[in-house]
Amino acid sequence: MVDTKKVKENLQRMTNRVSATASGKVQPHKHCRVCFRPIKLSCEPRVCTDQACMDRNVRDEKNQKQMRIWMFVFLGIFAFSFIGPLLLR
Ligand SMILES: [Zn+2]
Repeated sequence: MVDTKKVKENLQRMTNRVSATASGKVQPHKHCRVCFRPIKLSCEPRVCTDQACMDRNVRDEKNQKQMRIWMFVFLGIFAFSFIGPLLLR
C-alpha cells in the first residue's frame, strides 16, 4: 500500500522548494572564482573587488594562456610525428 500521508508530505516539500526559488528569494548572481563570494551578474572578469582576487585572476589567466600555448606546441609535435614520415618518404 502507498503511504498517502508520506506522499503528500513529499509533494508539499517539493512544491515549497519550487515556490521558494520561483518567488525570487535567490537573485541571479555569480560567485567570485577565487573566494566564491556572491558578486554582481554583470561582473567581468568573474572576480569580486578584492585586490587579492583580482591579482589571482590575472595570474590564473596568464597561466591558462601559457598552458594553451604549450598544448599547441605538443599537438604540433604530435601531429608532425604522424605527418612528418609521410612527407619525407
Ligand atoms: Zn573574491
